[in-house]
Amino acid sequence: METKQKAKKIKILSEIRVEADVSAMCWGSQYRMSEDEWAKQLERAIKDFHDFLRDHRSQDLVTLDIVREYKNVCSVCKDTWEPDEIDGVILCAYCGAEIDEGEPNDNQTIT
Ligand SMILES: [Zn+2]
Repeated sequence: METKQKAKKIKILSEIRVEADVSAMCWGSQYRMSEDEWAKQLERAIKDFHDFLRDHRSQDLVTLDIVREYKNVCSVCKDTWEPDEIDGVILCAYCGAEIDEGEPNDNQTIT
């Protein structure tokens, strides 16, 4: 008899990027200006930061953060977690593996 692997929902680290928040270097509040005005303020702040990189002037309010995005995927095919019911059986919508409805696995993270 063929033994098929059962699918579980697993959480994987799906994207890693560095984001820079230059908003603390902007004059005024983004909530008191239009989106276009705020975009121009941010562009000016980015230009200032680039100038800083050239001559190291005081721009120490700029923060850099590493952003990690996670998503739930099927443990068998690693595609997006999407249970589907066919003839009363819960299957992965992408690979068709039967879903193991054992203990919840929401906190399992595969990196
Ligand atoms: Zn799958």
